[in-house]
Amino acid sequence: MKVGFASLETMAGGPPGADITYKLPEAQSAVGFAIPLNRNLTRPYLGKELPNARADYEEDNIAINIKAWRMSKQVRDFLREKGYKAEALIPNNKYREDIPGWQASLPPELSLRYLAVRSGVGSFGWSGNIGIKDYGTSIILGGVVTDAKLEPTDPLPPEESFCNKCKLCTKVCAFEMFSDKEETNVILGGYTFAYAKRKNKSRCLLVCGGSTGLEKDGKWSTWSPGRYDYPEDDNEVNRLMSLALTHQKKRPLIKDHSKGYNPASYGQSGIVQLTCGNCQSICWGNPEETKKNFKILTNSGCVIQKENGELIVLPPGKAKEEFENLDPHHKRIYYKDYKRSIKKKAKLSHLMP
Ligand code: SF4
Ligand code: SF4
Repeated sequence: MKVGFASLETMAGGPPGADITYKLPEAQSAVGFAIPLNRNLTRPYLGKELPNARADYEEDNIAINIKAWRMSKQVRDFLREKGYKAEALIPNNKYREDIPGWQASLPPELSLRYLAVRSGVGSFGWSGNIGIKDYGTSIILGGVVTDAKLEPTDPLPPEESFCNKCKLCTKVCAFEMFSDKEETNVILGGYTFAYAKRKNKSRCLLVCGGSTGLEKDGKWSTWSPGRYDYPEDDNEVNRLMSLALTHQKKRPLIKDHSKGYNPASYGQSGIVQLTCGNCQSICWGNPEETKKNFKILTNSGCVIQKENGELIVLPPGKAKEEFENLDPHHKRIYYKDYKRSIKKKAKLSHLMP
């Protein structure tokens, strides 16, 4: 476990997600920490080993998020017992709904990533995930804000970074959510931090949200049985969003021993089941191990879902063949030639007076 501290001053100058007073207006400091996921479950997950790998990985992820939330509440309660105001931060899926367009930009109440990098808990990888040297990004972050004045800790020096910019994380994102060339910068308390520029966060919503998972060239997939073609631009992403989310609701839940989680307490509906997270799980903070993970994923095949919800995994060519042979009613909840309907619409609008 790693812990760090930030103050109003060390988080100053950042985007809205760096505002430690949003959750607690009197806040003077924030405590950030990181706890590890069970990496023994990563390779079976990336390799799509049936029947248990997805479920085991998901259960660990849920358990560690709950652990981070419980730890945050313990720190909050400790600070309150000492007479300070304090609020715990939910580690995931809790957003600032006061910001226009929050559904697309997903701004957190306080970015645990900003808190972690500024307080030296970890550093940014190219993917934008936070990682730790020799362990990588298989970690879950937590945090607390308080009106106690705590001594801030420094960011990690560059030689402590786990990221060698191998960019393999860009290659394991089926819809290429982030750039392999362009950077984005964030300034926090006088320090500049950099990571890959986001092309469009909806690309991650589509893939990590489970609507789809087939990689651009059809050579491998995530655990999602959705197979929409790669969107070339924002127009195609937007069209696919409404279509894919509607179709996804009609699919059976993935049938294995983990039932996913219900984010209803955060105002969302439906069960979420993990199917991606590749950019996080691939990176072990060691070039050789990360390369091995990349190979495991890209040779893992493609997923198809049976009508009872069970998943099967096949080599890419065989999976394509099987998919073509699915009952058309079953098939249409996983695929539609949405690009054709965009082109048709464009043609019609051209004919309009
Ligand atoms: S895979 Fe890890 S080490 Fe390689 S660029 Fe991405 S974050 Fe950096
Ligand atoms: S979680 Fe999956 S879809 Fe989202 S950015 Fe990472 S690799 Fe891409």
